[in-house]
Amino acid sequence: MDNQSILEVKGLTKIYGTAKAVDAISFSVRAGEIVGLLGPNGAGKTTTINMILGVLEPSGGSVEIFRNELKRNRGNIMERVNFAAIYAHVPGNQSVWENLYIFGLLYGVDNLKEKISMLLKEFSLEEFADTKAGILSSGEQTRVALAKAMINTPKLLLLDEPTASLDPSTALLTRDKIRKYAAHEQAAILWTSHNMHEVEVVCDRVLFLSHGRILLEGNPKTLTREYKKKNLEELFITIAREPLSLEITS
Ligand code: ATP
Repeated sequence: MDNQSILEVKGLTKIYGTAKAVDAISFSVRAGEIVGLLGPNGAGKTTTINMILGVLEPSGGSVEIFRNELKRNRGNIMERVNFAAIYAHVPGNQSVWENLYIFGLLYGVDNLKEKISMLLKEFSLEEFADTKAGILSSGEQTRVALAKAMINTPKLLLLDEPTASLDPSTALLTRDKIRKYAAHEQAAILWTSHNMHEVEVVCDRVLFLSHGRILLEGNPKTLTREYKKKNLEELFITIAREPLSLEITS
C-alpha cells in the first residue's frame, strides 16, 4: 500500500451457494483518483461495492480503508465514506432539506445549514428544498442522492451508476462536479457505469470485471490503443462477449 492509497481490496470474494459472485479480486484506489468498475450485468460490481461499504459480509479477502481494516473499524471509517446509487434513493417522505439535515446530523457535519445551502445550489435543488423527495423525478432524486453523498465531504466516495437517470446536459455537469470534487478534496472515487463514453472522460483508471474476476486494468485511453480498439465501448463489448480473444488481438 502506498502513502496515497485510500482503498485497498485484497482477495475479496463473495460466494452464493456454488456461484462466485466476486472471485478473489484485488485493487486499490488512491487519493484524488477516479477508478471505473466496469463489467456486464451480473459481473459483480454492486456486490463489490456492498462489501466495501460493509453492508455485505465477504466470504473471503479483506478491505482496508484509510489504512484501517474495515471489519474492525467500520464505525470510524464510515464517517469519511459515502455512497450514491441509482437504486438507493433517500427516504421519500421527508423533504429534500430534511433529508440532508438528517444525514448531516448522522455524520456530525459542522456548519450543517451552510453545507446544505451549498449542496442545494451545487446540485440545482434549491427549488425542491421543501418538496418531499419521493415525488421528485428519478433524475431529481439522483441529484438529491448525490448531494447526500457529499454531505460529510467524504474522502472515499462509492458511486454505483450515478448518472444513469440524468439527462445528457445534467449528466455532463454532474460528471464535471464529481471530477472537481475528487481533485479539490483529494478524494478517492470508485465509479460504476455502463456508459463507456462517460468512463473515458471521467476515469483515470478502469477495472474490467467479468464473472467476478478482474480481466483487465489500466488507463481507459491507453487500453483502447493497446488492444487496437476504436474506443472503450468496442473494447468492453469484446471483453464481455469473448474474454479469451483479448490475448489474440493484443
Ligand atoms: P449489473 O450491471 O446488472 O448491476 P453487477 O455487476 O452489479 O450487475 P451484482 O449485482 O454484483 O452484478 O451480481 C453479481 C452476481 O451475484 C449475479 O450473478 C447475481 O445474480 C448474483 N447475486 C447477487 N446477489 C445475490 C444473492 N443475494 N443471492 C444469490 N446470488 C446473488
